[in-house]
Amino acid sequence: MKKKNLATRAVHSSEKFGENGSLNVPIFQNSTYEQKIPGEWEQYTYTRTNNPTEEALRHAIADLENGEFGVIFSSGLAAINGVMELFKAGDHVISTDDIYGGSHRLFSQFIEKRKIEISHVDTTDVALVLEAIRPNTRCIYVETPSNPLLKIADIAALSKVARDKGILLVIDNTMATPCLQLPLELGADIVIHSTSKYISGHTNVIGGAVVVKDKELFDQLKFIRKATGANPGPFDCYLTMLGIKTLPLRIKQHCENALRIAQYLQDHKKVKRVYYPGLSDHPQHTLAKAQMCGFGGLVSFDLDGDEKAARAFLDSLDLFALTVSFGSVVSLKAYPAAMSHKDLPRQERIKRGFSDSLIRLSIGIENVDDLLEDIKSALDSN
Ligand SMILES: *Cc1c(COP(=O)(O)O)cnc(C)c1O
Repeated sequence: MKKKNLATRAVHSSEKFGENGSLNVPIFQNSTYEQKIPGEWEQYTYTRTNNPTEEALRHAIADLENGEFGVIFSSGLAAINGVMELFKAGDHVISTDDIYGGSHRLFSQFIEKRKIEISHVDTTDVALVLEAIRPNTRCIYVETPSNPLLKIADIAALSKVARDKGILLVIDNTMATPCLQLPLELGADIVIHSTSKYISGHTNVIGGAVVVKDKELFDQLKFIRKATGANPGPFDCYLTMLGIKTLPLRIKQHCENALRIAQYLQDHKKVKRVYYPGLSDHPQHTLAKAQMCGFGGLVSFDLDGDEKAARAFLDSLDLFALTVSFGSVVSLKAYPAAMSHKDLPRQERIKRGFSDSLIRLSIGIENVDDLLEDIKSALDSN
């Protein structure tokens, strides 16, 4: 049978796991399961190993990513840590330089302690990635679009490099979601998600997921999750399943609103520079158009001003909530210099392109005219 379109599969993702005619997956709030014969295991044993609600979610996410197998973790970082458990002391990992702050902290404070070497490379430049490869390189770890500058890496080109050298290509697809790009189709080996963002979508869940096509990788990751106790709670899985049904619809609105706002900001005299892959002056706009089927819901920009101006602007925005995280139906605002990137020394931060006046907006699904009005009045009042 022909595979249905993603929006259809998302809406119908729960009901095949429903019981007694329910269109939603039941919450199996359960730790242990009764067995019949000592040593002969029934399908379910213990929720750290498997759970029917979690199984529904892992099938749903694997299906959306056009993968074969999913493993659900307690958080996005637990998922990343789980993937890094595939490697051992002496192995080398190449990572995108401007990855999510929490991933950076995990790499620098924990993964490196396991004697796994990490090189931070601008993965938008395939030549730099090639140059960084060593005989012990086991993994290329890429975030695209990156956060907060929304740089785009060429997944197909990187997968060719990785394949030639027998290296695993891992893509953190949190920002784009399977609605906008399918890394496994472009040759990646592993897709990672923080389901805390767009996939659940309502700022009510912390969760993570890993999707692969390869059975051996799946078995390893499943075992890692069980052995390290990084399993999700059943209720969180249920909430995430609920979020998935509207994911394509939400993403469509996020993208539409974000493009309008990026275009508005670009023309405003108080804005110095806008970072949005959907704008024709974005350095990887052509690649983004080819690789993605939409440009996402995040818009970053430099105000023409200093830290004080940035803080005053943020303070004047009314509809946007000041938070870490992104990907919610509600519009969110963030100030990377004092929030996600506060641990970077100022000089290093500026060098990486995160200025004192950099603002990151996660555009929600509100009416875009109201959002524009809010942004306009905040810009004009300062
Ligand atoms: C949030 C995020 C993570 C970490 O996920 P948590 O669910 O917060 O642990 C990893 N990668 C990216 C791109 C993220 O945005």
